[in-house]
Amino acid sequence: MKKVIGIGELLIDMMPNEKGKRLKDVTGFTKKAGGAPANVCVAAAKLGTSSVFLGAVGDDAFGDLLIDELNTYGVNTEYMERSTVANTCLAFVTLTHEGERDFIFYRNPSADQLYRGLKDLSILDHQILHFCSVSLLGDYPMVNTHQRLLKHAKTHQTIVSFDPNIRLALSSDHVTYQQTIKAYLSYADILKIGVDELEFITGKQVYKDQIQWLRTYPWRILIITLGKDGVHIYTQKEDVIVPSYAVNVVDTTGAGDAWIGAFLAQCAKHDELPTNILILLDYAKVSNAFAALTTTHMGAMEAMPNLVELNEFLHEKDLKK
Ligand code: ATP
Repeated sequence: MKKVIGIGELLIDMMPNEKGKRLKDVTGFTKKAGGAPANVCVAAAKLGTSSVFLGAVGDDAFGDLLIDELNTYGVNTEYMERSTVANTCLAFVTLTHEGERDFIFYRNPSADQLYRGLKDLSILDHQILHFCSVSLLGDYPMVNTHQRLLKHAKTHQTIVSFDPNIRLALSSDHVTYQQTIKAYLSYADILKIGVDELEFITGKQVYKDQIQWLRTYPWRILIITLGKDGVHIYTQKEDVIVPSYAVNVVDTTGAGDAWIGAFLAQCAKHDELPTNILILLDYAKVSNAFAALTTTHMGAMEAMPNLVELNEFLHEKDLKK
């Protein structure tokens, strides 16, 4: 069985206690573990796959909390670093009733950006490496670490998975952000993109043109997530749309991370990257169920179901067919 190895940011999401207010008017916050690549590792671990998180937190109380949280879910944190010069990243984000996003990221830099990581890269060999774009911004050690790991991965039979997971709030220079993402697309064997991110990445407005543009890159599987409508999956030859399940949605935070985490967990268990569209269809059904269940509770990591809950849900849906 392969391992799922995630690299990138692990941070504290300060969730406002009231929805719809501007940050300056919010009366309090609740701390939650966050960070897309870390969410993916938790999803894989919850489904019984070995997962390893690579990244840094500060040598502070929030860093303790985050490492404890990952360990609770069974994610291996032995290669993480604790920074004594920068604190754990904090993100305060709220959506006002008018749909405006108010945000403050404490990241100047934060510990996650300083991760130098792994001298011996052999833990990546023959495994699955997942990364996102938030940790590719700026001129920090973490960017070099990504480049070092990705170059190694390409020559050591590592399956590389990339979910750009765009966070425009993190950069005012959107041109550089877009170019940065483009520079990393070629590393991906599995490329997962939310449908609403396609225009930013490809510069095209029409879906067909966006996919055509993405076809110029060497991915083996392209996954376009469609929110409540499920996913559109492509191999180089075929494609299939797999609808999601109707659930009572409470919070969609981390649904995309849950989806790709569950998908990578299945690839890891079967020890290979499927290119047969029927196998991909089966994987997508399981991932849709896992992600749909994640939306039925608040938060990301804690909202993800375990294997028993997932199987019960799938069994129930099968019986209703
Ligand atoms: P992010 O979590 O960053 O928004 P994303 O844009 O990839 O990532 P979505 O496309 O919103 O995420 O959702 C990912 C997957 O979660 C979908 O493909 C679907 O399987 C499931 N999902 C999301 N929203 C719903 C919903 N309302 N009902 C059922 N399933 C959902």
